[in-house]
Amino acid sequence: MRRSRAFIPTTKESPSDAVLASHIYLARAGFVTQVSAGLYNFLPLGKRVLTKIQNIVNEEMERAGAQEVDLSFVTPSELWEESGRLNKFGKELLRFKDRKNNDFVLGPTHEEMMVNLVKNRITSYKQLPINLYQIKTKFRDEARPRFGLMRGREFLMKDAYSFHATTEDLNREFETMEATYKRILERLDLDFRIVEADSGAIGGSGSKELMVIADSGEDTIAVCSKCEYGANVETATRGIRKDTTELKNYNSVRSVVKRLHFEEEDKIVLFFLRACDELQEVKAVNSLGALDISDLEEAELEKLGLTDESLAPLNLENIEYVFDRALQEAEDLNNIDLSTLNEPLYYDIYSVQEGDACPECSAPMTFTKGIEVGHIFKLGTTYSKALKAEFLNEKGQGTPFEMGTYGMGISRLVASVIEQNHDEKGCVWTKETAPYMVNIMVSNIKDEEQMALGEKLYTQFQDAGVEVVLDDRKDRFGFKMKDAELIGFPYTLIIGKELVNGNVQIFERATCDKEESSVETVYETLIGKIS
Ligand code: ATP
Ligand code: MG
Repeated sequence: MRRSRAFIPTTKESPSDAVLASHIYLARAGFVTQVSAGLYNFLPLGKRVLTKIQNIVNEEMERAGAQEVDLSFVTPSELWEESGRLNKFGKELLRFKDRKNNDFVLGPTHEEMMVNLVKNRITSYKQLPINLYQIKTKFRDEARPRFGLMRGREFLMKDAYSFHATTEDLNREFETMEATYKRILERLDLDFRIVEADSGAIGGSGSKELMVIADSGEDTIAVCSKCEYGANVETATRGIRKDTTELKNYNSVRSVVKRLHFEEEDKIVLFFLRACDELQEVKAVNSLGALDISDLEEAELEKLGLTDESLAPLNLENIEYVFDRALQEAEDLNNIDLSTLNEPLYYDIYSVQEGDACPECSAPMTFTKGIEVGHIFKLGTTYSKALKAEFLNEKGQGTPFEMGTYGMGISRLVASVIEQNHDEKGCVWTKETAPYMVNIMVSNIKDEEQMALGEKLYTQFQDAGVEVVLDDRKDRFGFKMKDAELIGFPYTLIIGKELVNGNVQIFERATCDKEESSVETVYETLIGKIS
């Protein structure tokens, strides 16, 4: 590509709301532009990176035996009613009517559509297993779209759905998908961790998230300092807390009041925990299968007489109670007698803390921030039952499909690569993700010799299948160099004044080192570096 003809609108201006490096640099370097909150245009450079990531994902999914499909983005509301998710998804679903007054939603995920596709088409256990995926635009009307591509409203997702005759076979495929996701992130050169994840209200028998390690990540993960254990704090558990048995708070109980939001109503809930523990809100939501959680106003708490968290009464009307499972095993609690309770609901609702013992090996756990780039999920029969999707098993009996679902945020991955690979000058693309590998910079395009060498090398690299840019713009050298650093081409070949002595320079973006090279050897040297 000739830079003089390229549509790469670089700018010194950062988006006004941008705090993340990826948001700032992808916008400044002309990879994307914002249209409206959470809506982005991909410009030529951004589109190239997106395509590269898609290609890697396609190759690895193909290798794992999954087949690519492409389902309609506009999906009938009817299917969402059948699955029971029309209300559950709430305002994230963008709903609309067509001219005939039929109800539709823009697909935020495609479980319903995929089950409907397979239903009555796969009818026998002999046709199982099958794994179908797509790389597709999704729309979620996120409450707080932010951080650029990280949390958009319209975004690109790879979503796969597998169908099985047995749970054993689902477990096997789950492991295959975990290995596939691992390969994808390794090829992208990302530092990541696979962690146990919250399966939410849908239930299911297990899920894992792929977390790209970054301080800017929205998720907190607890990782063991010794073994492989890692979990999102939304679901993390701990081993025996030997060190805290002496704490005076250990045998005291506290209560935390929250309002839980359900499809049809709200409920006030008192959560009881050890006084040394904090409530984990996602666990709290799951304990009663709610959709969301919020705080009560101070005035409300006063009215209910619930301002003192160590003295909550056990017999209030119209209030639900949930007790942390740790209290079930506790003896001699200081300020409360739980033995009077009639069938209390015990659930894991505590939050793990840094330094807590790993549930696997008891070594201390530490906290790290992560970006969730993928989520793999054993769904079981939740959707196939709701949508009445069955196959005939070996005995000829109608049986709902066992299902797995595997999501990966393709556009979020673009941003994740930059979160892990940038410096104060701009983007630093890796070999597998760079929009172009080599940028040939002619310092002075009026110098015929410089321009001729630029053209010659440009053709040579193109013929060799190397993705190459020829910076043939009239602008000053300093300006062009800043531009190249901002965009982050892995290598810039500088043709400048030294050409009269038969020399050029190779600038490596990752290290910012400049290396002299003779005109005769520079092509071979660069080919060696990039292959
Ligand atoms: P989050 O907790 O970040 O909202 P999620 O649990 O809603 O994610 P899934 O429904 O599991 O996400 O979607 C699969 C993948 O799609 C996620 O792992 C993430 O990489 C990506 N993704 C989800 N929401 C967005 C978004 N608003 N913008 C960009 N990518 C997203
Ligand atoms: Mg979400």
